[in-house]
Amino acid sequence: MSVLLDVQHLHTRYGRVEALSDVSVQVPQGHIVSVIGANGAGKTTLMNSVMGILPSQGELLYAGETLRGVPLEGRVARGISLVPERRELFASMSVADNLTLGAYTRRRGHWRADLDEVYARFPRLLERRSQLAGTLSGGEQQMLAIGRALMGRPKLLLLDEPSLGLAPLIVRDILRIVRDLRDSGVTVLLVEQNARASLAISDEAYVLETGQVKMSGPAQELARHPELSASYLGG
Ligand code: ATP
Repeated sequence: MSVLLDVQHLHTRYGRVEALSDVSVQVPQGHIVSVIGANGAGKTTLMNSVMGILPSQGELLYAGETLRGVPLEGRVARGISLVPERRELFASMSVADNLTLGAYTRRRGHWRADLDEVYARFPRLLERRSQLAGTLSGGEQQMLAIGRALMGRPKLLLLDEPSLGLAPLIVRDILRIVRDLRDSGVTVLLVEQNARASLAISDEAYVLETGQVKMSGPAQELARHPELSASYLGG
């Protein structure tokens, strides 16, 4: 089993405050790895550090090569794509235009095929391709944010709280989409507060607490862990 993303001893600080201290996370190729933890545990900071949006110390190996000195665009070009927590869609632009913007690193001709693929995966987005993104439902906006990230043909998808603010039924749809993506070969690092639902679709999981890894292991084992169950899974 090869490791696609190997985060080793990562430290990220905001000024004098260390938000991540000595965090190590391994994401095997073709797996879903989830990072769970309370508000402020450092989950978004981890995603932004991997993406190169935040400077960090420690080692980040991607497909066996260091990401040190590789800027955000270079990481995107290597196949890493982030779906940010607040989705960050262009609300006053159409669904189609939001998707097309996701392909900015790709040559014309390629992105046409990518667009068809995204529409095949999300028929709802095809139906609504002319609708303004800001008028979509929360679940549709999350699909659009994921669709836009897929336009870059990522090998590694970083998903920051895709279920945020969504109703339970929609959360299930979104997590099913994440599982389908994994089954089609995309490796996923998933950040979720919705611990039980994310463990159910994950291969491995890490629990972050105040910037440190408190627990890690196969997702099914963690789902049965008594301590985790009491603090994160509602007993
Ligand atoms: P949430 O689930 O609420 O999004 P999180 O696990 O993603 O939380 P982070 O957003 O990574 O947590 O925040 C980790 C810590 O870093 C928190 O204590 C937060 O207050 C702090 N922090 C985050 N962003 C900044 C910033 N721009 N400046 C200073 N401190 C920050």
